Amino acid sequence: MPPLCDVEGQDRALEGLKRALKGQRLHHAYLFAGPDGVGKRLAAQGLAEALLCEHPLDDGDACTQCKACRRVAEQQHPDLHVLERQDRPDGKGLERQIKIDQVRALQRALSFKSFEGGRRVVLLLEAEAMNPATANALLKTLEEPGDDTFFVLVSHAPNRLLPTILSRCQRVRFGPLSRAYVTRRLTELAELTPDAGALLAGLSEGSIGRGLALASSGLLARRAELIAAIDDPHGLRRLDALSELADQLGRDKAELPLFFLLLRTWYRDLLLLQAGRPAEALVHQDLADRARRSAAEVPFSAIDHRLALIQATERDILDGNANARLFLERLFVHLVDDARAIRAGSAR
Ligand SMILES: [Zn+2]
Repeated sequence: MPPLCDVEGQDRALEGLKRALKGQRLHHAYLFAGPDGVGKRLAAQGLAEALLCEHPLDDGDACTQCKACRRVAEQQHPDLHVLERQDRPDGKGLERQIKIDQVRALQRALSFKSFEGGRRVVLLLEAEAMNPATANALLKTLEEPGDDTFFVLVSHAPNRLLPTILSRCQRVRFGPLSRAYVTRRLTELAELTPDAGALLAGLSEGSIGRGLALASSGLLARRAELIAAIDDPHGLRRLDALSELADQLGRDKAELPLFFLLLRTWYRDLLLLQAGRPAEALVHQDLADRARRSAAEVPFSAIDHRLALIQATERDILDGNANARLFLERLFVHLVDDARAIRAGSAR
């Protein structure tokens, strides 16, 4: 578990926290909020280590060498309490929610003296996974934490937290990581060529975690082929071929988020070109020639409309459990119809 100074690419988010740590002016409860895979959890663990360290450095960060630091790193420190979704008893993944029993067990543990006679740290990961009853139970503890107890809530969806919880926490905003930084890290971590790292960084929208998940996806190798199938400026594509593609994609729901990401980033690239941005700003830089052709042929309003269709279909399928094959097919028909209408309009 790295100390706080090892969390890279989040200087702006962590600056205030480091100052508070150095000056011993910490709040009792923090909310680390921001997209997945940008270092929130790493920072929360780093803060826990700094708070429990026996010989903190001059800047307040953890020494990483003492017994306390080693125990925090192994998640074995008796005064570090981590609340997160538990494994389901049937072994099929994680529970959907953090349980109220977990909060009650925490409260019992906090009602005793700390083991080491010093600070205690509670890390609450995926804080949005608390239902209102659980959150209300936690609220009592957040309101009267005791002098040496510190809470760090971590969430990618802080809008799902109760306002009463939010008002108790000092919010630290974690933004998407810079493209240059994500490119460098992904290239190192997934052992990619710089070009592949740059593509993945563009697709991952500032999240190392998402980039790593994408690196192992089979759809990535088929990117150029998929874009060629969908990007059809004149609506000349045969619908039965697209229907087959919908069928194929609909069968592997795990790959669908990446498919939508490919489509969205493609059309966004076209909009960037129309706005006069250089090829270096594109996600699909290696397909820049194709993108330039399409951007020259399809009007802005049509691209914008297609982007909206894609996003609506993505929401229907991924959030709304709509039939993937059916909705994809409907999307493809819309895209072709749209292109044909433009062609008919310009031929008149
Ligand atoms: Zn230490």
